[in-house]
Amino acid sequence: MTPSTTKRVWRDNFAELKKPLFREDARVESFRCLYCYDAPCVKACPTRIDIPRFIRQIATDDPLGAGETILEANALGHSCARVCPVEALCEGACVYRDKPVPIGRLQRWATDAVHATGELPFEPGADNGRRVAVVGAGPAGVACAVYLRRLGYAVTLFEKRELPGGLNTFGVAEYKMDSRTSLDELELLFQLGCSLVKGCEIGKDLRADAVLADFDAVFLGIGLARARRLDIPGENLTGVMNALTFIEKVKGRDAKLCGSSKATVVIGGGNTAIDACTHSKRTGARDVTLAYRRGPADMSAYDFEIALAKADGVSLLTNAAPVRVLGKSRVEGVEFAPTKVVAGEVVADAGRRFTLPCDRVIKAIGQETERSIPIQFGVAIDANGAVKVDAKTLRTSKTKVFAGGDAVNGGKEVVNAAADGKRAAWGIHRMLHPGAKPGPRNEYWVSTIEGRAVAPIVNPMGSWS
Ligand code: SF4
Repeated sequence: MTPSTTKRVWRDNFAELKKPLFREDARVESFRCLYCYDAPCVKACPTRIDIPRFIRQIATDDPLGAGETILEANALGHSCARVCPVEALCEGACVYRDKPVPIGRLQRWATDAVHATGELPFEPGADNGRRVAVVGAGPAGVACAVYLRRLGYAVTLFEKRELPGGLNTFGVAEYKMDSRTSLDELELLFQLGCSLVKGCEIGKDLRADAVLADFDAVFLGIGLARARRLDIPGENLTGVMNALTFIEKVKGRDAKLCGSSKATVVIGGGNTAIDACTHSKRTGARDVTLAYRRGPADMSAYDFEIALAKADGVSLLTNAAPVRVLGKSRVEGVEFAPTKVVAGEVVADAGRRFTLPCDRVIKAIGQETERSIPIQFGVAIDANGAVKVDAKTLRTSKTKVFAGGDAVNGGKEVVNAAADGKRAAWGIHRMLHPGAKPGPRNEYWVSTIEGRAVAPIVNPMGSWS
């Protein structure tokens, strides 16, 4: 592709899918809210944002107040407004079944207003003399760091990449949120005074036992760093890549990707597989096939994501298990065996193989925890490599180590990681300040340090009891 065509590809094919609201639209939409008692939209939000409250604030022309309400409950409310699958969460639960209140876009309207001021509406808490290490500056780690700073802890984040943000910066579909928006959000949050050590990998640049010795508590927000393998012949051929690596390259506007594939096969059935398909299509691949080894009903991708891929012209091949990647040094195709699901298990018919020619294969069959990190910290993991935690406090098997986000839940949404980070911050605070009590209302927890109330923070669990 010529440079001007490439420029057009980035501009047109990766423009934001959901445009921001104008001021009047935001107010008109906010007037539709019924401010429901026991609002189902709030229950559907893992961080329990007080949605009717922030919508009422927008209706009364107080976008900054609305932004504060959002960021109070969800430190990553700015990015969640863009990347949350609202159709399956808050908007999916709205009492207006046919045309829900556009909660995500209203949330964006409010947090954009906060960002336009360049100032976070919160202060760090008074120094309480305790230090916490956060390993991994992805959504869970950043959320944990923000709430700990607000409670007066000195927080140091250790991030192995040169930029923070994890999946928010490197792995979100480009038409939902670009890397710059993620980094801007972090810049604002880090105004609270978090120290960020970049390019620092546990076990290579820093020993886990040194972290344990130096800090009063540790939070592991290490995500899922290792891509699963297909374990079939031909997997190492040129042209076979992991979905997140591919999406990261697209987000980095790697011009070599544009027009680099005529036919791509994406293997997987989740939302990342869908992103890999749409990004392939939008960077110029003529034929893109999503191949999944079970039936369509078993795909974990959301229906609206599958619809987007279909609208982009992606073909769906279900009940097909990859057996072999074909080619001498480069990918030339994938050999599949048809499958049936018997008693929940996939059974491939090895005698009836068929081939799909292609020049690129993208693997989107999931990620797993880099097991070496929890092992170095001496915390227990389950058979799948997920870090085991106490569900309420997110404390691991090691007293002063907590964990949350994808490394614990196996890979959920950014908002789940943000909720975990907040919950773990409380877990750490309650461990280091055993006298801390829930607030006067069960759904809030007003922390008290030396008898002084620190900012009340919404409890995502709704109750301590
Ligand atoms: Fe408003 Fe819908 Fe939530 Fe009710 S469910 S409070 S109408 S956004």
